[in-house]
Amino acid sequence: MALEAEAKAISAKFDYTDEDVNKGVQEFLRQMSEGLEKDGTSLSQIPTYVTAVPNGTEKGLYMAVDLGGTNFRVCSINLNGDSTFHLTYTKVAIPKELMVAKTAEELFAFLAQQIELFLRTHHEEQFEKHLRRRMTISSPVGFVDEDVFRLGFTFSFPIQQLGINKGTLIRWTKGFDIPDAIGKDVCALLQKEIDKLHLPVKVAALVNDTVGTLMARSYTSPGKSGAILGAIFGTGTNGAYIEKLSNIKKPMQGEYDQSTGDMVVNTEWGSFDNQLNVLPNTPWDVELDKESINPGIQMYEKRVSGMFLGELLRLVVVELLKKPHVAFFKDESSDSNDWKSTTNISPTSSLYSQWGLDTAIMSVAAADNTPELVTLRQELETTLHVYAPSLEDAQAFKAIAGAIGRRAARLAAVAIAAIVLQTGSLTNPETADEPVDIGVDGSLVEYYPYFRDMIYEALRVIEGVGEEGAKRIRIGIAKDGSGVGAALIALVAAGME
Ligand code: ADP
Repeated sequence: MALEAEAKAISAKFDYTDEDVNKGVQEFLRQMSEGLEKDGTSLSQIPTYVTAVPNGTEKGLYMAVDLGGTNFRVCSINLNGDSTFHLTYTKVAIPKELMVAKTAEELFAFLAQQIELFLRTHHEEQFEKHLRRRMTISSPVGFVDEDVFRLGFTFSFPIQQLGINKGTLIRWTKGFDIPDAIGKDVCALLQKEIDKLHLPVKVAALVNDTVGTLMARSYTSPGKSGAILGAIFGTGTNGAYIEKLSNIKKPMQGEYDQSTGDMVVNTEWGSFDNQLNVLPNTPWDVELDKESINPGIQMYEKRVSGMFLGELLRLVVVELLKKPHVAFFKDESSDSNDWKSTTNISPTSSLYSQWGLDTAIMSVAAADNTPELVTLRQELETTLHVYAPSLEDAQAFKAIAGAIGRRAARLAAVAIAAIVLQTGSLTNPETADEPVDIGVDGSLVEYYPYFRDMIYEALRVIEGVGEEGAKRIRIGIAKDGSGVGAALIALVAAGME
């Protein structure tokens, strides 16, 4: 088959039809209900103990810290009460030896030291005031409440959440390994080290990044009803939304304010449909999963998020390169029997290694609509070390990448639509004139051209949403969930003290 026909046939395998989208939504709704009833289901539906979202009028000075990977971020956030805020932050790399420290204390003591340094650098006046008062009052702890910063702690590792500022570590990921911390309450670990340094800081909330995104969006977006969903489409994908308390049937352990009748639920939708009832499954999806560190798990995420889309494309490209009769990145002068030597790609190209194709190049492919695809061809040369890719090579690459990206966006629409339907936002007469607001964050949704347009295209064909519904759904970028979002959760938590 000629290259163009090959690319077309492969792209067709990534088609995710309107009918598929609708089936996906029905199954998503079913799995959401299941997750609200019991533990151990595909969608974890974790209650977060956050029972209200902000409306933009919140005021005050709060702190937030974020431990999620290689860096530790410390910030203070001044909420101005008019949907705007001022954020001051510092970032420090976590020393490698602390990621595998013997005791949790070593890591958390380092985090507390960074908080102290931040306070001394950026809030010296308040810090000094606190120290002076501490010396003059006789309380054993020495805190004067108004001096105490409430802090939201974004901790992006698997957690069993037991309350708004309580959660035990299930396991470490991303290169951390401190067995001593497993099963312990990470907020208490941090508070203990903060107290040892006598800092005026109270760990008020344990924050998941999707909940932070939802809160950040609710504070900054205009409109009286606030956002209903915060969603991440970055390295991974996940969403948190506002659920009616009465729909959460499984037991909850922590205490919470019941007056709003709502609670934010963290869906952990990356594992939607791990059983593959409705998710599409091409031979490349199968291969990607088989070669991943967690086969059979995070099956939705493996079709939607930035970490995996590039790898899917890479697997397709490599398969095409192996076909002797397809003129795809071929070195016409080679008569070698080794498939790699028949290509015009450097033998050391990352294209030949797992994870060697960054999803970012798919954005370049989607953005380049020039007749000669000059930018994409240049990018293929610089990032993947293809020597002088032809226009036909680049066209085939663009077509396949586009099909994978389009399927991801349509799958994203499945989750978004299911949650819009679950919350009843489109049919609620009280908010009939309001947009249904959704906050999103992550490089994929931010930088992949037309990602949101493709989501909308799918939303329009979904039963219960339709043209009119899609028009009311407003998907907007919500930056800084782990900063302002975490601060807002600390604020909500402080109100519950
Ligand atoms: P995180 O989710 O880890 O906070 P990001 O939101 O920046 O971080 O997402 C990083 C992921 O997004 C990576 O998997 C990367 O391949 C992908 N990515 C980075 N830049 C782009 C881009 N321009 N277009 C599409 N995907 C991108």
